[in-house]
Amino acid sequence: MNKNSSNIMALAPNTSKKRETVCIFGTGDFGRALGHKMIQSGYPVVFGSRSAQISSLIPKDAEVLSHAEAAQKAAIIIIAIQRQHYNFLTPLAEILHGKVLVDVSNNLKINQYPESNAEYLAQLVPGAKVVKAFNTVSAWALQSGTLDASRQVFVCGDDMEAKQMVMDIVRALGLTPLDQGSLLAAQEIENYPLQLFPMWKFPIFLSLGLTAFFFFYCLIRDIIYSYVYENKDFSFFIAISIPNRICPILALMLLALVYLPGVLAAILQLYRGTKYRRFPDWLDKWMLCRKQLGLVALAFASLHVLYTLVIPIRSYVSWRTSSSILSQAQKNETQPLNTTYAWLSDSYLALGILGFFLFVLLGITSLPSVSNNVNWREFRFVQSKLGYLTLILCTAHTLVYGGNRFLSPSSYRWYLPNAYMLSLIVPCIVLVVKCVLIFPCLDKPLTRIRQGWERNPQSSE
Ligand code: NAP
Repeated sequence: MNKNSSNIMALAPNTSKKRETVCIFGTGDFGRALGHKMIQSGYPVVFGSRSAQISSLIPKDAEVLSHAEAAQKAAIIIIAIQRQHYNFLTPLAEILHGKVLVDVSNNLKINQYPESNAEYLAQLVPGAKVVKAFNTVSAWALQSGTLDASRQVFVCGDDMEAKQMVMDIVRALGLTPLDQGSLLAAQEIENYPLQLFPMWKFPIFLSLGLTAFFFFYCLIRDIIYSYVYENKDFSFFIAISIPNRICPILALMLLALVYLPGVLAAILQLYRGTKYRRFPDWLDKWMLCRKQLGLVALAFASLHVLYTLVIPIRSYVSWRTSSSILSQAQKNETQPLNTTYAWLSDSYLALGILGFFLFVLLGITSLPSVSNNVNWREFRFVQSKLGYLTLILCTAHTLVYGGNRFLSPSSYRWYLPNAYMLSLIVPCIVLVVKCVLIFPCLDKPLTRIRQGWERNPQSSE
């Protein structure tokens, strides 16, 4: 039995409406994968190829003909061929007249050509109706059936009827078509698969910048200062102590930066008295990458947990513990239990544990597979209410950690405060402003504005 045929089980064999034949030009990876999927969905498939020989890789139920013969058998032709080979279509222009040509191609670089591949195809075959689709779906995902995360298929084209025909095929394959408008959108759609983590750039560069800043800050305060004034070599702090200071600082600051744009947007809306005026570009972009900022913050919080777990096995820590015991023995005195300190220490740990637990919960609910299963209100509850609770717990964790050291002169070396004190600035600003915003005199107008009310309707036009 043919190896391929075993995989091909028609998904919709009993559909009352007979599916129309689809032609695919090109028997390469993508053409074959799409052909498999189409046959599974009940479409008769004919391949147009330079070589009409049947290979074992080609789906068993498909025909392979020359380009001209195959094109005549279908109203829709999928061009699964790289753009640089499109010239072969020019002599076929007459046969392709009036047909729907589906451009699935991608480029190697963003904006590689002056016009999109789909527009180029439309210029080469002016009588055809060109539709751009399927370029964001990979051959591998089509064949392995792992399309869960990428079910969306961006579709664009100038001919509404042609676009509708392609969208029907997309739906029949179990995918979700997203109409992106006219063929002018093709360039943007072709750039999607080439973008390198666009939403991650700001969070990653910001966290790298902050990491570098706090690293040098701690280096100066904790290592260089001790070396200069106390002649002590604490350079080994670079391995665990300093990272374990930087990680919670970044986790807290980045978490606060997730909520700061929302607070700024609320202030802007209140000031303008409308939600219909666009936010500045920087604020829009900042709001779009809040999820990524939150996930980077979660990564730093997780590292902080790991670094904290190894504290008891550090040789510096066991040396400090034993020298404290020895000094008590030498003085023949026992330090009484300081219950205030014990309370502070336990509260600090408890706040950290609860904060981290909610942090993880926020991260889990931001996963598409989870967020798709909760409704809008549930999602908002978790991301907004629990998010603020996480910020409160983590801020309190840091405040309790500081305890009475905030006012102690020994906390200031070369007039530099402890790094964790700096990390509290943004979260405290966010929490204070948020508290002000929930006063009814501000919350009520803000809620009305968000429901569409305008203080001065003419000014927003
Ligand atoms: P491929 O494996 O290299 O196949 C391309 C096919 O084009 C060849 O098998 C050949 O088919 C045909 N061809 C090659 N040179 C030709 C020429 N001079 N004249 C006419 N036909 C020629 O490439 P692919 O991965 O299938 O990609 C095909 C298209 O799909 C590309 O535009 C790509 O950007 C797009 N795409 C691919 C993927 C993917 O995951 N692979 C995903 C999305 C979009 P015959 O031998 O049958 O003539």
